[in-house]
Amino acid sequence: MAGALYIHIPFCLRKCLYCDFFSIPYESGMEREMEKRYVNALKSELILRKDNIGTLKTIYIGGGTPSIFEAGSIARILEFINNNFGIESGAEITMEANPSSVDDEKLRALRQAGVNRISVGVQSFNDAELQSLRRIHNAAEAARALDIIKKYFGNFSIDLIYGLEGQRVEGWIRTVEAALSFAPPHVSAYELTPEADTHFGRRVKIGEAALPVEDDIVAMYSLAAELFAGAGLHHYEISNFAAVGFFLCRHNQNYWRRGLYAGIGAAAHSHLKIPADERNYTVRTSNAADLTQYLTAIEDNTLPVYETTVIDGLEGLKEDIFLGLRTAEGVSVERLREGGLDVPGLQALVENGLAQLDETRLRLTRKGFLVSNRIISSIMDRIDYG
Ligand code: SF4
Repeated sequence: MAGALYIHIPFCLRKCLYCDFFSIPYESGMEREMEKRYVNALKSELILRKDNIGTLKTIYIGGGTPSIFEAGSIARILEFINNNFGIESGAEITMEANPSSVDDEKLRALRQAGVNRISVGVQSFNDAELQSLRRIHNAAEAARALDIIKKYFGNFSIDLIYGLEGQRVEGWIRTVEAALSFAPPHVSAYELTPEADTHFGRRVKIGEAALPVEDDIVAMYSLAAELFAGAGLHHYEISNFAAVGFFLCRHNQNYWRRGLYAGIGAAAHSHLKIPADERNYTVRTSNAADLTQYLTAIEDNTLPVYETTVIDGLEGLKEDIFLGLRTAEGVSVERLREGGLDVPGLQALVENGLAQLDETRLRLTRKGFLVSNRIISSIMDRIDYG
C-alpha cells in the first residue's frame, strides 16, 4: 500500500515559455465549473485506486498551479482522503503555489484545511527575467506572497531557476540573496533545461536564445550552494537544500528512495507494488496527459492509465543507483556489488574529489553533483547485465 499520494492539478493562468509539465490554461468563464468537475474526478480516481492506497504519510498537491483552485476545493479533496484512507497525524501535506494566486484569506484557509507546507514558484527576483520566462508574477508579488506564507506556514520552500537567457552570475546571486532574506527552511534551485517541445527549447535549437556559458553555470551552482550552506541549508539532493531534520521534503525523499506512491489526476505517475508478486517487482504507470481523455475515462469508471512499465530486479537496481546518487544519502555499497560493480575501482572518483566512499555507501560530493550525469551514466554502463 502506498503511504504517499501525488495529486496533479493541471490548470495554469497561462503557459510559461519553458514549461513542459502537463498544464493547460483555464478556459475562460469555465473555471469554477471545470474545478468542480475535476475535483469529482479526483475523488472517483481515489476510489478506483483504493486497493493501492493506505494511510497517508505524505500528500503533494502539484501542477500546474494548484493555488488557482479555491481553498474550499483543496479542503474537500483532503477531507475525502482523510475519510477514506486516513491521514497520519504529523503527515506532510505540501501544495505548490504561484505568488500571484495566493492571498491572506486563501493561505489561512489552506492551513486550516490541513496543508502544512507550501512550495512557492518564485523562480527569480528579477522582473526582466520573470518576464522573459513569461511568468505571471513579478518580484514584488513574490515578496508579498512570501510574507503572507511565513505568517501561516513554518514549513515552506522557495523554487528558483538559474541559467536563464542573458543571466549573469551576479544577477543570479542577487536572486539567491533575496530568497535567503526570507529565511526559507527549504530551497529548490534548478538549472533551466531547454525542453524540445517548448517555445524556449525551439528558440535555443535555432540559436536564437543566448544561454550562459558552461563556466558561468558552474559558478552559479557552486556559489548558490555555498550561500545556502552559509544559511544553514543542507544540500540533500542535487537541486534541493533544507534546514536539517523536519524540513527535508519527505514526499520527494520517498521518490528518491524508490518508495511506493499513488498519483492521481491527468498525467500523474504512480509507483506501486504488483499484488501477490513474490519477486517483489513493482510497476510504474502514467495517467493520460490529456484532460478530455482523463475525465472521460474516470467518468466511465475506468483508470486513465496509458502507460505501464514493470520494474523487475535489474531495473530496480538501476533506479536505486541512479536515484541514490542524486542525493546526499548516496547509494549502498551492497547494491553496487549486486550490480557487479568493482567498488574499489570507484576510488578514482574519491581521488578526484567527486565522491566519498566508506564501507557502506558511495556519495557524490558537491563537485560530483555538478557532473552527476556523466558519473551516473558511466556507473550505469558498468553494471553487469549478465
Ligand atoms: S506556472 Fe508552472 S506549471 Fe504553469 S505553465 Fe508556468 S511553469 Fe508550467
